[in-house]
Amino acid sequence: METSGNIEEIFDSVQGEGLLIGSRQVFVRLGGCNRACSFCDTPQARRPAATCRVETEPGSGRFEYLPNPLSVDEVMRVVGRLWFTGHHSVSVTGGEPLVQADFLQALLPAVTAEGHKVYLETNSTCPDELPDLVPDIEYVAADIKLSSCTGEPNRFDDNLEFLEKCDVPLLFVKMVVTNEVDVDELVESLRLVSSSGRSPTVVIQPVTGRRGEIGIGGLLLLELQQRALEIHPDVRVIPRIQQILRIA
Ligand code: SF4
Repeated sequence: METSGNIEEIFDSVQGEGLLIGSRQVFVRLGGCNRACSFCDTPQARRPAATCRVETEPGSGRFEYLPNPLSVDEVMRVVGRLWFTGHHSVSVTGGEPLVQADFLQALLPAVTAEGHKVYLETNSTCPDELPDLVPDIEYVAADIKLSSCTGEPNRFDDNLEFLEKCDVPLLFVKMVVTNEVDVDELVESLRLVSSSGRSPTVVIQPVTGRRGEIGIGGLLLLELQQRALEIHPDVRVIPRIQQILRIA
């Protein structure tokens, strides 16, 4: 077990995507990722960071910088400083958090020991790392990346194994779609979700630009949802709101 990890930033904000959109969270963004999606909105977190920026007070937008790696105790000190009554959960995000699974084995129990719930945002390509972490996770937002949208090969076998192992109280799947989306690939991914033995809500998330502009046509979104609903019973279209609210 690794008791220190590479952290990109720790801050207080509103969850801007998926089923828990609008919930207030403390975000712990880990550095490093195993993918290179064309639409990545956190390119700075794709590699380990030399320093970690941490917000000094909740909602202040003021930051100080700490040298990496950070210990579990250092992370928890910052989380405690930012947490206020009414916070929903601690979002563990990236990058791809599971590339530091050894560190998460130390961090997640420390988060739950404080009475906070863990919300994991992941690209669901590291199924081997998940089982040891599941007992400390309440919510999982599992991305399935479509090659027609990311420009990278899809990882459907890993995604399926991840979903099969993801026995948490609330799991949902998120797929970011662009105008380049291959409808047949989306259908194939929905079949995969349905074959996982779980019935997570699937969120189709239209890609957004820097100012919150939706980067895919509305009629195409309607077609995608219709085709998806023919295979899976709960498919919603939910855009991300960070850029609209001008928050991180
Ligand atoms: S998995 Fe997430 S963090 Fe990694 S490159 Fe893709 S969008 Fe960016």
